[in-house]
Amino acid sequence: MYDYMAGANHNVVPGHALPEDALIQLYDLYKSEPKLAEKLSVPVKPEHYLQLAKFWVDQRGHTEGRRPLEAYAQDAETIFEAKTIEGHAVRATLFWTGVADVALANNDERYLSAARQIWDNMVGRRMFITGGVGAIHEDEKFGPDYFLPTDAYLETCAAIGAGLFSWRMNELTGEAKYMDVLERIIFNSIPTAVSLDGTNYTYQNPLNANKMNRWPWHDCPCCPPMLLKFTGMLPSMIYAVNGRDIYVNLFIGSTAKLQVPKVGAVEISQQVDWNTGKVTFQVLSKKAKKNAPPRPHSRLGKRPRTASRSLSEQHTTQGDWLSNLQEPEEWHTT
Ligand SMILES: [Zn+2]
Repeated sequence: MYDYMAGANHNVVPGHALPEDALIQLYDLYKSEPKLAEKLSVPVKPEHYLQLAKFWVDQRGHTEGRRPLEAYAQDAETIFEAKTIEGHAVRATLFWTGVADVALANNDERYLSAARQIWDNMVGRRMFITGGVGAIHEDEKFGPDYFLPTDAYLETCAAIGAGLFSWRMNELTGEAKYMDVLERIIFNSIPTAVSLDGTNYTYQNPLNANKMNRWPWHDCPCCPPMLLKFTGMLPSMIYAVNGRDIYVNLFIGSTAKLQVPKVGAVEISQQVDWNTGKVTFQVLSKKAKKNAPPRPHSRLGKRPRTASRSLSEQHTTQGDWLSNLQEPEEWHTT
């Protein structure tokens, strides 16, 4: 695909966004585990995954020599021209996740600026109180600013896409607001999308769900696997690490083994008591304690300031992080 498209400058882009994000995850995987490629029977050039994803992002809005996919598939304008999130809501949220991926992988301020603009528009003007997005039934698409009817469409996959976009923006910037939106989606749009016994699903999630029932199957069965994909990724969203720091993104009772770059392996447990609001952490790893410098080296904050792959220091000012810090009633680090 790289040879046919990006390598030959052949103007072809996916009709449904998602492969942009998938390719960059493959790029990250092969970069972090280069020996993995040696086990495959085909040659792997990790940089081609990144270049092809970037090509698909860059070609949006450039329709020379091909059929325009229009606003429905984020093809009416380039990412640098776009000021609002438009079109099919699942495609749009996944596409902008891919744009944020490209910003992260290439350390490119222009892509970050474009992604910020669109995320701000999505969350500030087109997202429902539940974290749902995609107000209009026709074309399953975003509506205009502040069009937030109670019978809106709000596909499960679109909420998940908005969550993935937010998670990636947090990785880029370390800003807490992105994880707050992800948390809102996790607490609202995700649980409503599946029945307690795990066998029935929603496709639409309007605020007024009167006379709507979950279904066991659907002609377009995209939402159940998206839900499974998201819950499979959830453990990796709980913490972020950078330098000597561990950042708590989500309050979820868990035990985690983290690779903190300048510390090493750290095992940490988190207990959450929702009745009292008390969150307790224990650092379990003896190895990390032994290697630690004399004074405390790891901070535990409610929200992340930086993540494992911060774009640049100018996005990670300590003051911003401290001003955002809202500590729970009690911290324990041992
Ligand atoms: Zn779906």
